[in-house]
Amino acid sequence: MPPTESDAHLADLANFVRASPSSFHAAAEGARRLTAAGFVEQAETEDFAAEPGGYWMVRDGALVAWRIPTGASGRSGFRIIGSHTDSPSFKLKPRPDLTSAGWQQLGVEVYGGPLLNSWLDRELGLAGRIVTTDGAQHLVRTGPIMRIPQLAIHLDRQVNEVGVKLDKQLHTAPVWSVQGPEGTASGDILRHLAEIAGVDAADVLGHDVLAFDTAAPARFGANEEFFASARLDNLSSVHASLQAMINNTDAEPITVLAAFDHEEIGSGSRSGANGPILSDVLGRIALAVGATGDQQHQMYARSYCLSADAGHAVHPNYVGHHDPANRPLLNGGPLLKINANQRYATDAVGSALWRRACAAAGVPTQEFVSNNQLPCGSTIGPLTATRLGITTVDVGIPLLSMHSAREMAGVADPYSLARAAEAFLNL
Ligand SMILES: [Zn+2]
Repeated sequence: MPPTESDAHLADLANFVRASPSSFHAAAEGARRLTAAGFVEQAETEDFAAEPGGYWMVRDGALVAWRIPTGASGRSGFRIIGSHTDSPSFKLKPRPDLTSAGWQQLGVEVYGGPLLNSWLDRELGLAGRIVTTDGAQHLVRTGPIMRIPQLAIHLDRQVNEVGVKLDKQLHTAPVWSVQGPEGTASGDILRHLAEIAGVDAADVLGHDVLAFDTAAPARFGANEEFFASARLDNLSSVHASLQAMINNTDAEPITVLAAFDHEEIGSGSRSGANGPILSDVLGRIALAVGATGDQQHQMYARSYCLSADAGHAVHPNYVGHHDPANRPLLNGGPLLKINANQRYATDAVGSALWRRACAAAGVPTQEFVSNNQLPCGSTIGPLTATRLGITTVDVGIPLLSMHSAREMAGVADPYSLARAAEAFLNL
């Protein structure tokens, strides 16, 4: 079969994931793609531009982009697509070099809620940013340099009966070297990162560096209908929103992409959805296009937000963990995520908006709702809705193995999400 637009989209998503081993890389790669499409950087320290066109701004691991259409004013509204750039992982601690029984290891903190067992026995890299004496930030990314080795079954005979039980401090430290024959320590991870970044190790004054799986994304299945990759939660949504923004035309309303950092740890940061970054940008756009104070609130009242984040497909081995009437499948279309307790922001108005977008794009959609016995996850949707008072709807592609180092999606859903997102921008 000749490759379809959906195949091309998936291959591009794989490229995006590989280019984005950390939230900082995801924001930078998004900015690079937007720049290639004609968007220009808006410095936070300068007056916001009012001229029609596309703009972007990176704050730490967050990316915000917007397009001001010709004729934008205090009578315009916003169409916002929210997502997040971060994924569960392990973050390098201060004084990271450890030694144990001749091994060089690294001290790491658990970031967010990874499925710990899924990170075992993988060739891992480190990626993120280091900051030097002059205050400059340097993106850094290693090759496959380390591994969290699982204990052999011969030394853990009960593991298949009682399950893998990992002490988060004792059992998660990756190995990355063995000492030289003379017994001298060969490990200095910050020096290694400095060398890769091309800076003097003595100049490195801070680091935000996390582990990533170096395995490439891959299609699989007899019909090539599945897609395995790291960080589909939530780079699948960041990528879809980038595609939607890039394809969007110079027409009302004002379209906005907000890819926040720190969703996996509660969104409370200056680059997270519970911070002021999006409200600040919307307010500054409103001022730039000449809105009065009251008109700014009118603009919010004319606005909608699509909160895009990966959700759960029904797991065939655990159907009892799902709602009996709502069992989304891979390749059945992106999810409309619903929760009575507003863990998702979707309401009837938002549901109708999403279904209109899907109909306009000609893509299927399916509902997700939790089994009442299980707590529901959450997203940035309720946070942005609460902060801004803008009608928000939670959606995203279905996955198996969410928060695994290697998640699983259907090959068709990412493209469907991107097309529905693009239609949402034009509602
Ligand atoms: Zn997520």
